Formats: sequence, structure tokens, C-alpha cells
Amino acid sequence: GYIMAGRAIIPIKKSYDRQREFVADASHELRTPLSIFMASVETIQRDKESKISPFAELVLVDMKDEIRNMSKILSDMLTLARSDAEATTILKEKFDIIDIIEQVIRSLQPLANKKDIQLSFKYQMQRVIFADKNRIHQLLLILLDNAIKYTPPRGTVSVELEFLTKKPDIKIIVKDSGMGISAEDQELIFERFYRVDKMRSREIGGTGLGLSIAKWIVLAHGGSVSVESQIGKGSTFIIVLPQ
Ligand code: ADP
Repeated sequence: GYIMAGRAIIPIKKSYDRQREFVADASHELRTPLSIFMASVETIQRDKESKISPFAELVLVDMKDEIRNMSKILSDMLTLARSDAEATTILKEKFDIIDIIEQVIRSLQPLANKKDIQLSFKYQMQRVIFADKNRIHQLLLILLDNAIKYTPPRGTVSVELEFLTKKPDIKIIVKDSGMGISAEDQELIFERFYRVDKMRSREIGGTGLGLSIAKWIVLAHGGSVSVESQIGKGSTFIIVLPQ
């Protein structure tokens, strides 16, 4: 197919490639001024001579939060633009999945503690899988971070690892006792920038890109991801990775 772009006629594929390159370049370029911006705010905060009011100090803290949020959006956009371009290859190796899950749990434990959420992990003795270690780490971080974010205080979040015997697949189940996702939204949450209930989501914070990255990682491994959920009861994300 062809589309009109200005006066020239550009094949759709090429125009799409250009758009994607633009997104990748733009998000990459924006990261530098943003980190300078962050450093500037920190300089003001550290400056003992400056006489800023307590209110202005709070504003600086909010600014840092927003800068961090924007950096996260940019790095997520970059990941997705690169994944579209197939510029990010999946590098498979043998590694201990239990180590990776325990590492992710350790890094999220403070978040869980803050909300008094119980984090648990169940697994069998088998440990070694063949996959892209960094991407699997990223995938687990997205799912567990969501599970904690969207679960009210004193809830539970669990990870379960199963090695299937019939097919040489592994199954990772991330379950929470959180707010749940309606059937309608379950179809949409893997879309880029889609967030359920924009108002509440704003308070919770996030980019709306996590699950699209998670889905890309799973598909790039030839696997599948599905969700089972009921409003108010919690959600279960099930990932199957072929081995
Ligand atoms: P976000 O950065 O908003 O978390 P995601 O792509 O990871 O973006 O998720 C998209 C949306 O799906 C979230 O905004 C949230 O509304 C919903 N969601 C994701 N995980 C869960 C969960 N475990 N429980 C309830 N809702 C969830």
C-alpha cells in the first residue's frame, strides 16, 4: 500500500519505519536533557545557601517524581520502538530462573512492606531454563510491580513456577488479591498506553506501557500470556514459555 505524505508518495512500510525511528530517536534524545533537569533540581536541593520556602521544597520533590516518571515513559517507549524494529534480539542462555525470581522479589520487597503486602514464591526443584535472562527479569519485574501496585494494603501477591511434564514448557503464575480487571479491560490492558481508570491510575503511577513490553517479551520467546481476573477479587497472569 501507499500513503500520501506531503507531495511524495511513500510506501506504508517505509513510512511506518520512519515513524518508529522517529519515536526511538526522540525518546533517546530526550533522556539527556531530562537527566540534566534532574541534576539541576538536586543541585537546588543541596544548595545550603539558597533560601527556598518549605513549600518550594515540596514542589522540588514533586518535580523529581515527575522527572522520574517521564524517564520511565521514555525508556519504555524506546524499548517498544526497538522491539518493533526487531533491533532488540532475544539472546537465549541457560540460567537459574529461581535466582532471577528471588532477585526480583528482593528488589520489590520494600514496596510490598510499605503496603504490608505478603509476597510469596512457590517452586519445584528444577531450576535451569533456556531464555533471555535480562528480558525474563524485566518481565517478572513488570508483572510483580503491577501486582503490588494494584493490590490494596494487607493483600497478598504470589509467584508460582511450574515445569510442565507433558510439554517441555515452563509456566510462571503471578497472582494477586488486588482490585481485579473487568473482562472488557482484560482485552485492552496489553495495548500501549492503555490504563484502566485514568484517575485512579494517575495516583498509582505508571506508564501504561509495562504490559505491552511484557507481552512482547513473551511473544519473542514463542510463548503466551493470559490473564484471569474478577473485579475486587484479584488477578492472575499466566505465562507459558516453551523450552
Ligand atoms: P501501568 O504502567 O499503568 O501499570 P501496564 O501496561 O503495566 O501499565 O498495565 C496497564 C493497566 O492494566 C494498568 O494501568 C492497570 O489499570 C491494569 N493492571 C495491570 N496489572 C494489574 C493487576 N495486577 N491488577 C489490576 N489491574 C492491573
